[in-house]
Amino acid sequence: MIPSVLPTYNRAPLSFIMGEGAWLTEADGSRYLDLGSGIAVNALGHAHPDLVATLTEQAGRLWHVSNVYMIPEQQRLADLLVAHTFADTVFVTNSGTETAELAIKMARKYWYDKGHPEKIGIITFEGAFHGRSTGAIAAAGGEKMTKGYGPLMPGFTHVPFGDLEAVKAAITPQTAAVMIEPIQGEGGIRTAPEGFLKALRKLCDEAGALLILDEVQCGMGRTGKLFAFEWDGIQPDIVMVAKGIGGGFPLGAVLATEEAASGMTAGTHGSTYGGNPLACAVGAKVVEIIANPDFLAEVNRKGALFRQRLEGLIAAHPKVFEEVRGTGLMLGLKCRVAPADLVKAGYAQHLLTVAASDNTVRLLPPLTITDEEITEAVTRLDRAAATLDV
Ligand SMILES: *Cc1c(COP(=O)(O)O)cnc(C)c1O
Repeated sequence: MIPSVLPTYNRAPLSFIMGEGAWLTEADGSRYLDLGSGIAVNALGHAHPDLVATLTEQAGRLWHVSNVYMIPEQQRLADLLVAHTFADTVFVTNSGTETAELAIKMARKYWYDKGHPEKIGIITFEGAFHGRSTGAIAAAGGEKMTKGYGPLMPGFTHVPFGDLEAVKAAITPQTAAVMIEPIQGEGGIRTAPEGFLKALRKLCDEAGALLILDEVQCGMGRTGKLFAFEWDGIQPDIVMVAKGIGGGFPLGAVLATEEAASGMTAGTHGSTYGGNPLACAVGAKVVEIIANPDFLAEVNRKGALFRQRLEGLIAAHPKVFEEVRGTGLMLGLKCRVAPADLVKAGYAQHLLTVAASDNTVRLLPPLTITDEEITEAVTRLDRAAATLDV
């Protein structure tokens, strides 16, 4: 008999009733150190006092009004994002998938309005993840996500991640955009090679294509900058944001330059919930906290500390681990064992991590994790690895 919850997930037999900072608690009181953060969502940890206060204050006042009306909380969130980034304008969504949908629509509409309706192609990368809608699975490609779902949305060309020559070969006069995660999350914390984004920017400019960055997982302070592309010193045209920006409340945003967004006039896109007061009040608070340079400096310091400890861990368990990957607090352990086995061994040590492709286990702790908790995490990882180190 089919379970009452549609069985589309492989769930661990864990269930939490409370969270505080980097810790999650089960009904029997057992505590787990959380290096998953709901997959980079709880960027400020669980039950952050400022977010709880913001949410409850807003909940007592106004939850939802339609985008038929002005929404001051949405305006505030958009203003903050514009003030802190390359963006001139922002569309607020409820999820990362919805940002992929809008990014695709925005790029095609841009060229359509410029008198180039033939420019509909979008170049994406192997190992990518952009969400689960029909458009987003077509964008990412990959049999695991697309098999059985019938004709896919046309227009996507998939090239190997980080392969500039392959992008050059794939770009044509019909190309509307290139879409890439600066650091692939689901793909296994794979960072684009040094200089790759800069070269892509140049290629896009030469070919007349927009550069779309999917920062749903690597954005919002995760790498130690507000957005990962800032490490590369480039200006994107469109950036997709979600996960961390709501701190646990469903929220996403598409950031764009005035030029890239020029096709999106009244009536061309919309969302019932997207940008409602409850989500935007929380999102504005999250942006306010994370965009603070002192906060980001701490992410960098703690990321370096964590990485250094992980290098030691790898040296201690060369049969379990191959290398550490990532930037800031977006870290990955490339394993020589099955990642699922390490994740499971972590559960036994009351430590939560998340498996990814490319034989990698992701470490995405709350950005508020303390030095002591990093030390504790490495101790538990060491114990977990020891059980696999045979
Ligand atoms: C999670 C994720 C998405 C999809 O976000 P949802 O909120 O699950 O729809 C898109 N892109 C990247 C890079 C992601 O990590």
